[in-house]
Order: sequence, then structure tokens, then C-alpha cells
Amino acid sequence: MRNSEIVCIVCPKGCRALVREKNRRVEITGTECARGAEYVRNEYIEPMRVLTTTLTVESGGKRRLSVRTDGKIKKKLLIPCVRYLKTVKAVPPIHMGEVIVENMLDTGMDLIATDEVE
Ligand code: SF4
Repeated sequence: MRNSEIVCIVCPKGCRALVREKNRRVEITGTECARGAEYVRNEYIEPMRVLTTTLTVESGGKRRLSVRTDGKIKKKLLIPCVRYLKTVKAVPPIHMGEVIVENMLDTGMDLIATDEVE
């Protein structure tokens, strides 16, 4: 049996949920709505995050380019992705929304620019 406490961040109320898992059954208490229960279940089973970071720029007016994934990726893949991105250089000109890395590390998500470099 495994127990976890997860704070729901879907709304400002911040309900504290208790998740109990026994025989592969997940039971959630402490949430006050279905959206919160879904958030807590996903956080417990497979937390997902949008990755935001910066890349080295090969040349041009800026030294770093801000980027993010165009959707959520598994939280456990954040560190492997950040390590991989240390090997990637952005080559100007780059426009906002441009795909810098397609399907990053087979996550199914692209890495896109959130800034411009001429
Ligand atoms: S469980 Fe519902 S009411 Fe509670 S913090 Fe989450 S979204 Fe808000």
C-alpha cells in the first residue's frame, strides 16, 4: 500500500488530497471537484510538465534563446531533455513560434522558440 499527499493547484483553493493505492486501485480523498480529482490522479500516476528553458545561440545579437515545449511531457523526461538541449545550438534568424527541435527525444512534443533572434 502506498500513500501520497498532493496539493491540487487547479484553482486557488489548494485542496490537499490524499492518494491511497492498494492492489493497483487508486483512491483519492480531499478533492472538492472532478477537475481536481483528475489533476491529482494524473499527478500521482504520470505527472506531466511543459519544459521551459534557454538555448545557446550560435551567433547574432543574443547569447540565449528562450524556448518551451509545445505541450506537456512526462516529468521524468525533463532532466534527459535538458541534458540533450545542452548539445543544441539555435542558429539565427529565429522567429517566435519556430520549431527548434522536432519531437524532442521522442516525447511527441516539439521545442519552439518563445523569442526572436535576428
Ligand atoms: S480539488 Fe477542485 S476546488 Fe480543490 S483546489 Fe482542486 S480544483 Fe480547486
